[in-house]
Amino acid sequence: MKIVVDWDRCEANGVCVRAAPESFHLDDKDQLHVLTETVPPELRAKVDKAILGCPKQALSLSED
Ligand code: SF4
Repeated sequence: MKIVVDWDRCEANGVCVRAAPESFHLDDKDQLHVLTETVPPELRAKVDKAILGCPKQALSLSED
């Protein structure tokens, strides 16, 4: 599974970073970076929490 960000929706509020810091990072310019595009199984629960918690519905998972 791969993390997909809808960059038009993301407002860089950092909710996903707090939920899954291994997978998301905000740089000093408030630009979001995905650190684990392919989600390792051990991080899946945290990434799911980040996706559900994103207030802008900017995150999803794709199959490939
Ligand atoms: S929680 Fe959503 S809106 Fe906030 S930084 Fe993450 S992807 Fe962007």
